Amino acid sequence: MRRSHQALTAQAHAECSNCGELKRPHHVCVHCGHYDGREVVGAGKEAKGVVRV
Ligand SMILES: [Zn+2]
Repeated sequence: MRRSHQALTAQAHAECSNCGELKRPHHVCVHCGHYDGREVVGAGKEAKGVVRV
């Protein structure tokens, strides 16, 4: 019974408004580096975790 809360849930996703790739909501797009309509991280760089503006 204690394991009834350990089920995995589906990852949330949203479409990037710049390139249309699927991205995590409220995260920089790992495909194009855009967030909120402007480029935050250079394209090609992996942007995982914290967004520092
Ligand atoms: Zn994108």
